[in-house]
Amino acid sequence: MIMKPTRNRVYCPSCLRSKMLFESEEKANNFIRFNSAEIMELNGKAPTRSYYCRFCGGWHITSISSEQKGQEMDQLDQDRFEKLTNGQAKATSAELKARSREIQKFYNKGISALSLCRFEQAELCFSNALILNPIHSEQIEHAQKICQRIQEQLACSMDYENTKRELLEFNASVSVLTQSDKESFERFIIEIIDNYCILQKLYSILDNAEVAIENKEYEQAKMCVEECSSLVQDQGEVKLKLKGLVNERIQCIQSAILKHDEAHIAAKKERRAAKQKQKKTAELMRIISLLESAEKTISQNQDSAKILLSTASERVRRLPPSEEKDILTQNIERIMQTYGL
Ligand SMILES: [Zn+2]
Repeated sequence: MIMKPTRNRVYCPSCLRSKMLFESEEKANNFIRFNSAEIMELNGKAPTRSYYCRFCGGWHITSISSEQKGQEMDQLDQDRFEKLTNGQAKATSAELKARSREIQKFYNKGISALSLCRFEQAELCFSNALILNPIHSEQIEHAQKICQRIQEQLACSMDYENTKRELLEFNASVSVLTQSDKESFERFIIEIIDNYCILQKLYSILDNAEVAIENKEYEQAKMCVEECSSLVQDQGEVKLKLKGLVNERIQCIQSAILKHDEAHIAAKKERRAAKQKQKKTAELMRIISLLESAEKTISQNQDSAKILLSTASERVRRLPPSEEKDILTQNIERIMQTYGL
């Protein structure tokens, strides 16, 4: 039966990761004896050796079988322990763990900043981690070097493939890291460069959008915003974080577009209202002129005056309710009464 990997797990301040912890050497060795075959089948590698961890005060297991490598690591462990306690033999395990966690926090923050190409922030985090304590410094120093090298490379060339290749070569050439750390750094380097490439694309589209807004080319700006969205859409969590970096700029552009759209709609409304007012005034003038003609002709030709009046009253009837409509209606009635029509 394979012991569930979540059982017995502790955060090991020496490895800076979670590991299985056994209270005795015998229990660790028993675990190896009964589970390594199945773990091998599952993972392609299996624990072969147990060792005492002075940080955790118990036994861990490892797949590194070489005794020599094991001794080297034990030595490294001891060095770290001494560095971390600064010779204070009485530093408690809780203190050590708290400190290690602090370092781990800075390191993780640095890694996360680095993946988003926030190089300055990443460097600050890594140096904070190193200042706190030089334990496990190979990993942190390596991340810091990658951060610096990426910036150097990108400063002199925007050839992403070349930058990627050089960094991967550098990563492969470092001997202090374990194979699995090297491999995860390898994936990480590829991710950083890919993200950098996407970010540069996003920035250049946003530059275009901002120029378009300045030139009042709002349709162009809209197209740029859509291009940005489709670039980051459906690309997973990391790309969402990238979107977070450009969100503020996108929102500024969108609000400029919205403002323009609103102003545009308001202007259109105003134009329509002015046109309607013009139309209404023209109709009133026409009705007034009909009434004037009717009054002029009424003494000579009552029939034609009647036609003019009925045309005028029909047009008044069709007017929407208004003060002018009432006055015109009264005028028509007055003329009819005056001439007994
Ligand atoms: Zn440990």
